[in-house]
Amino acid sequence: MKRPFYIALVLATLISLAGCKEKQQAEVAEAQQVMAPDIRLYTLDGGTVMVNNLELFAQDSVYRGQTAEFADAYYVVVHPKGTLMWDAGLSQGLVGMPEPYTSPDGNFSVSRPDSLATQLAAIGMTPADIDFLSLSHTHFDHSGHAEALPGATWLVQESEYAWISSPEMEAAQPDMFHAVNDIEKVKQISGDYDVFGDGTVVIKYMPGHTPGHCALFLDLPQHGPLLLSGDLYHLELNRLNKRVPIFNSDVKQTLASMRAFEAFADSTGARVYLQHSRDDFNTMPQAPNYLK
Ligand SMILES: [Zn+2]
Repeated sequence: MKRPFYIALVLATLISLAGCKEKQQAEVAEAQQVMAPDIRLYTLDGGTVMVNNLELFAQDSVYRGQTAEFADAYYVVVHPKGTLMWDAGLSQGLVGMPEPYTSPDGNFSVSRPDSLATQLAAIGMTPADIDFLSLSHTHFDHSGHAEALPGATWLVQESEYAWISSPEMEAAQPDMFHAVNDIEKVKQISGDYDVFGDGTVVIKYMPGHTPGHCALFLDLPQHGPLLLSGDLYHLELNRLNKRVPIFNSDVKQTLASMRAFEAFADSTGARVYLQHSRDDFNTMPQAPNYLK
């Protein structure tokens, strides 16, 4: 074989192999696209919490004299195998009030722009369409409309359920107790829980803020992995400095959860969204738009 011809042949083979590889890669990407379940994340406005005394959000006095505005988001995850609502906003009793409601201790002023039914109608759903409810925890700003989902099964950590449904809680925090006490379908879980069995929607056990506090991991087909923080961190500054609020079940456990959360976020490459951050709330597409 003459040398120039041989070189041309080798080059042609290499080019054709490279073309094959590109084609293979494109086919794999296409197959992954087809195989990745079509998941949507809707972000809804569960109200606004004006924090009149930000000092509550650290163990020391670093926030003395400061105030902050917190978003109060809740979310609907639509998966081919069902629908999950994550958190439940503030009480629907606030809708239509002329002024925000201020707690008797003056620490919080809360409002909610619209009802669950109206907000779900905007994304073509009704409360009966929600199959599963999961609350990051059962504080009042996350359990607002928890009892207004007739078809939903509440996925709740055993430790959270034991805490919120106790006679002591009924006596000490009757509003929080009664916000979830009438939910009929309850499935108690223990630790991380893969909601639809394919790793794309996973409740992450991050206890400490309350006994069964959780975050939510999602692996969306286009956006990729993300974490909804629950109230592991209320503020970006608390994430940065690992600050724990005064109202908190177990400081040591909370700090351990922060370490576990950050390690998990690093290993998965998940983008973290702080649920009370107004900036993170505004970053999300607002319903009827969605993240996918
Ligand atoms: Zn909260």
